[in-house]
Amino acid sequence: MSRMAPKARSFGTEVAVATTARSTLSIFAHSRGVLSLLMEKVIIVGSGCAGLTAAIYAARANLSPLVLEGRQPGGQLSTTTLVENFPGFPDGIDGPQLIMNMHQQAETFGARFSYSEVTDFEPRNNHVRIKADDEWLETQALIVASGASARWLGLEDEQKLVGHGLTSCATCDGAFYKNVPVCVVGGGDSAAEEALFLTRFASKVYLIHRRDKLRASKIMGDRVFANKQIEPIWNTVVTKYVPDEKGEMRAVRLRNVNTNEERELPVACVFVAIGHEPNTKAYQGKLETDPDGYLITRHLAESKHPGVFIAGDVADRIYKQAVTAAGSGCAAAMDAEKYLSGLET
Ligand code: NAP
Repeated sequence: MSRMAPKARSFGTEVAVATTARSTLSIFAHSRGVLSLLMEKVIIVGSGCAGLTAAIYAARANLSPLVLEGRQPGGQLSTTTLVENFPGFPDGIDGPQLIMNMHQQAETFGARFSYSEVTDFEPRNNHVRIKADDEWLETQALIVASGASARWLGLEDEQKLVGHGLTSCATCDGAFYKNVPVCVVGGGDSAAEEALFLTRFASKVYLIHRRDKLRASKIMGDRVFANKQIEPIWNTVVTKYVPDEKGEMRAVRLRNVNTNEERELPVACVFVAIGHEPNTKAYQGKLETDPDGYLITRHLAESKHPGVFIAGDVADRIYKQAVTAAGSGCAAAMDAEKYLSGLET
């Protein structure tokens, strides 16, 4: 009896443990089911071309995605002018119109939108938590399509002057500078495009580039050189913004990088177009990034965490085109859908 008792007790305990384990498992399975009901299925961070394409695909797959639009709804296309290279529009289409069309298309299929901005991110075993404004949201799958933001020169008083004769968006602010001289800083397609757009308003557009050759595509470069209202200033950097007594831009201080010669150039507005930085602050140290902060993907849209997918300029330092962003948004949504189906089986 004394030998049996422990065994019986032990047997009893095993049954009890097994029963407890089973009920714990079933509670766990049940609560996971309940949790997954309470959770979002797919959250998409970003509402540029990549995020909206992901939203169209996820919504058409009946996943009712929640799109967190962030600080710059519509992404970079919303601050651009005519887009001539998006397939399907032989006469081109305005960037903001293209974005509105995508937004409407995603909404038609059931995508939901919120203006909140993601500030933190925690991948868990079977789901992901993200902090949007001050609220933690839980989702089974996450698509990071947070894009890239305009880069600034890093000069004194720069952020104070934004909106007072300093901007990174000609489409938004160009019309305020009618019949006055302005300058664009940069030598890429954005700088060329901004300079050309500004000739509609400004009396003169200086294009200030740090080298003696544009980085912009030949077609854009040719258009710049053919426009007599644009004057390129080569091998030159801006070293200082010069505001007037009211705090509005009056001039820029320039330095020729070859001769070190300095001079002041009167301009009413400076349009900075020197590229973009990926919006990956919330993911640093949690998702893989390259030295410049771009997210690293595997197989086009996968991250190192199951259930977390990546699309668009946030991971693209090479192509950065609306159509490549759209393509990767599609891939991310299809991968997310496949991942979610796998969770259900
Ligand atoms: P980008 O091609 O990276 O060009 C940035 C330009 O800014 C370069 O000329 C660079 O000089 C200059 N720059 C960078 N940092 C600088 C600094 N600190 N001070 C002074 N100059 C600086 O960027 P992007 O023009 O925004 O274009 C990004 C992508 O979008 C590209 O793939 C482009 O083709 C595409 N895009 C296409 C279109 C179009 O097809 N219509 C329009 C806009 C953009 P360096 O040349 O010396 O490096």
